[in-house]
Amino acid sequence: MSFTLHGIGASSGIAIGRAHLASPSRVEVAHYSLPESQIDPELKRFDDAVEQTRTELRNLRSQIPASAPAELPAFLDMHLLILDDNMIDEEPKRLIREQRCNAEWALTQQMEALVARFEEIEDPYLRSRQEDVVQVVQRVIKVLVGHPGQLPAGTEGEECVLVSHELTPADMIQFKSTRFAAFITDLGGATSHTAIMARSLGIPSVMALHQARSLIRDHEWIIVDGREGVVIVDPDEKILEEYRHRQTAWVKATEKLKKLKTSRAKTLDGTNVELFANIELPQDMPAVLESGAQGIGLFRSEFLFLNRDDLPSEDEQFEAYKTVAETMEDKPVTIRTLDLGADKQAPWGHTVADNPALGLRAIRLCLAEPRLFETQLRAILRASVFGKVRILIPMLGNFGELKATLQLIAQTKESLRAEGIRFDERIPVGGMIEVPAAALLAEQFAKQLDFLSIGTNDLIQYTLAIDRADDAVAHLYDPLHPAVLNLIQHTIRSGQKASKPVSVCGEMAGDSQLTRLLLGLGLRHFSMQPASILAVKHQILGSMIDEVTDLAIPLLKNTDAEKTASLLGKLNGKS
Ligand code: PEP
Ligand code: MG
Repeated sequence: MSFTLHGIGASSGIAIGRAHLASPSRVEVAHYSLPESQIDPELKRFDDAVEQTRTELRNLRSQIPASAPAELPAFLDMHLLILDDNMIDEEPKRLIREQRCNAEWALTQQMEALVARFEEIEDPYLRSRQEDVVQVVQRVIKVLVGHPGQLPAGTEGEECVLVSHELTPADMIQFKSTRFAAFITDLGGATSHTAIMARSLGIPSVMALHQARSLIRDHEWIIVDGREGVVIVDPDEKILEEYRHRQTAWVKATEKLKKLKTSRAKTLDGTNVELFANIELPQDMPAVLESGAQGIGLFRSEFLFLNRDDLPSEDEQFEAYKTVAETMEDKPVTIRTLDLGADKQAPWGHTVADNPALGLRAIRLCLAEPRLFETQLRAILRASVFGKVRILIPMLGNFGELKATLQLIAQTKESLRAEGIRFDERIPVGGMIEVPAAALLAEQFAKQLDFLSIGTNDLIQYTLAIDRADDAVAHLYDPLHPAVLNLIQHTIRSGQKASKPVSVCGEMAGDSQLTRLLLGLGLRHFSMQPASILAVKHQILGSMIDEVTDLAIPLLKNTDAEKTASLLGKLNGKS
């Protein structure tokens, strides 16, 4: 039976494909069916992953220092025993053979079955041992994800749409190398990092659907309209036809925009605008080059730290930063220092706070862990001789943090000098304005920094007290709230007064419906997902600065929600 679900359009575009339900367990994994010919390779992939996990556990065991507590080797021994048990070592293989499913899915199903059995145990201690089973399975799954199997792009030429209750930013990393046509989730907001990653993949996505995971059945046909935030399940032929038509129109419009790749982003009256790209990992660089971006305005370096148990070494980070710097040649590359915390949690991170978005996040975490921070600063500084690198500090809230950070950068430079290691002595250091306190004092921050970048995703979250990842309050997350617009305009003006460039690198910068508004508020530097650059450039090419300024100003004072749409419509040329 056909039905429609409404959520938040997180990434534009239209996809039509078969639903693939992600696991309901604690470990989110993809589920896909395998053709007969792939069963044996999949069994081998599973065996190899178990073997690699065994080696990892044995290595860890052998490296335990003598001074470590006795529980540690015992704990690893127990995990090795669990791994050797038929229930983990053999049973999933039966599922792969019989259900013709991928190894991750088979393993997760088996884990769910075991966890259910543990749940029946009365003794609380024994019952809690299910955590060990989950941890061992997670280890094997991580290995499997690191060696992806042959994920079909749909069975026999059909496309797959991933249906999940929730996806974390770390889960999304693994999808960078797979080929889903769309993602839909029950939870999440439009500026959650998961949504941002869906946009960076250029794949249609709808979030906050609440019940998609329980209402949609595996393999059902679904249409995903990422612009309207609509999902149509089991559509009839007439609706399918209509959406195929819309899909073709969308693809044509996207193709047409590609002609703008090499044109300068200039308004009709000749004002130059800079369009930079946001990236998460060096593997995003082909999309950046494809978009014609004039630089990297935000490299979310924390993504190098996700999906792993250990920390990336200084050399590993250096290689990643160097690759990006070299690829961009003489164009600026803005590396944001670690912004972990809130919805981007590394497994080795601090215990989860009651209120992580207000907790030990971003620069606060880095200053609490100076060794971690110093390692990253060394890697960035070393990479600075390979291009035009800039440092960006996330979530500054007070001047003590700024001072401590600048001191740490100075110390790191000093130690590199002492070691005779080259770096850019004049590397620019900028700060993100994403806390209202920083926006209000943007002029003072601008004086002490080389540039500012407004993180509107967090600025909206902290100004309006709306958790950006919580679908329950997503309807209140409002980029057009006059308080938000005033803080943005104030920050841009503060930068102008201090003669320091100000960019916006939050999702507002990549929303072509807001381009003219931001131009009207004085913005001349935008940074966004590469996939949005051409649509934003298209808006800029058709804008007159005086006109958009006159039309943007009333929005700063507008308190009538209904009038907002008409004011924005006027800005965008709709009368
Ligand atoms: C922002 O907050 O707008 C921003 C760009 O940073 P992030 O989305 O990574 O928090
Ligand atoms: Mg932010």
